[in-house]
Amino acid sequence: MSDLIEGAETQGGSLARATTEPVERRIEQRRPRVHILTGAVCNNNCIFCMEEDREGRYVTNSATTDQTVQWILSQHDQYEEVCFTSGEPTTNKRLHLWVKMAKERGARWISMMTNGRALSHGLYAKRLVALGMNKFYVSIHGHDKRLHEGLTRTPGSFEQTVAGIEMIARLKPYGVALHTSTVVTKRNLPHLLPIYRFLRARGVDQVVFNVMQANGRANTHFERLFPRYAEIAEQAEEFIAVAREDEDPVMAFFVDIPLCTTTRLPDFNRGYVEDYVHFEPQDSRGLLPPELLDDRRAGQDGELVQIRRADLDDDQRRKRAECAQCRYDEVCAGVWGNYLRRYGWEELRPVPR
Ligand code: SF4
Repeated sequence: MSDLIEGAETQGGSLARATTEPVERRIEQRRPRVHILTGAVCNNNCIFCMEEDREGRYVTNSATTDQTVQWILSQHDQYEEVCFTSGEPTTNKRLHLWVKMAKERGARWISMMTNGRALSHGLYAKRLVALGMNKFYVSIHGHDKRLHEGLTRTPGSFEQTVAGIEMIARLKPYGVALHTSTVVTKRNLPHLLPIYRFLRARGVDQVVFNVMQANGRANTHFERLFPRYAEIAEQAEEFIAVAREDEDPVMAFFVDIPLCTTTRLPDFNRGYVEDYVHFEPQDSRGLLPPELLDDRRAGQDGELVQIRRADLDDDQRRKRAECAQCRYDEVCAGVWGNYLRRYGWEELRPVPR
């Protein structure tokens, strides 16, 4: 834990809190971050990408202008963190300018979710950090070329992403936090331990294993890719037990897996989906019911609407009557309908209060 920069948040809350508080308490205390949609395109082609509607993303994300960003940043003190995401942020030529603007506005945490390939160019990465970016979430899905590129379907992406991670690790003395995000699939599930060791050896502070969301391409390729939650929980438990022999706590977090399936994991390693909002022009994707539109109007002249995480996917998640008896009912967002359609409820049993 010594390489965790002072004051940095872990996936499970502040490190001190995360080691002592139950996961449901940490979920209740999370503060939203604001996402700024940056990338109309992506230079990877991940098989499980949730953003299958490329055209829709192009329209929505292309609408982010300097003025939009300036307005969002004027609200930044309502949020824990300003995060550039959606599409691949590094494909947007305005990124450095927007990071500078966020810094000037006084944002405490300025981050991006990235495939990290552009960070392999030292000058590019150093400039981002010099301008104020201080947290990186780098997506990497395997500890070797075959595994990672089999999922990104992009030749050469492994070397560049690893070089990007190593570059950011070198910049950690400047107060930079380095997290990774690995989407758990049937292919990489048997390799949790080598993936973890590979990333920790390269200076990653927190290794997040994101269980797939059963949407977009992940739903299209569900049968080939999606492991059962019970199987993921079992592999996670075994991995943590072995990794604990090297370091304790293990800086790995399992996210977006129903808590009723992970009761045998140390509470510290049970992560959660962050709360977030973003702003887009005039509800361009029709995510809000008309009666909510006025309440969510935002921007200098009401040209934006605020979209919350729950607006994006709550209608695709389900609970059943028995969930009301579950200890985690209040903090559980439910299970993907697309998952239940294939695997049913059998492994998802209420945890006694
Ligand atoms: S509320 Fe239902 S789905 Fe959620 S953790 Fe409990 S039993 Fe599982």
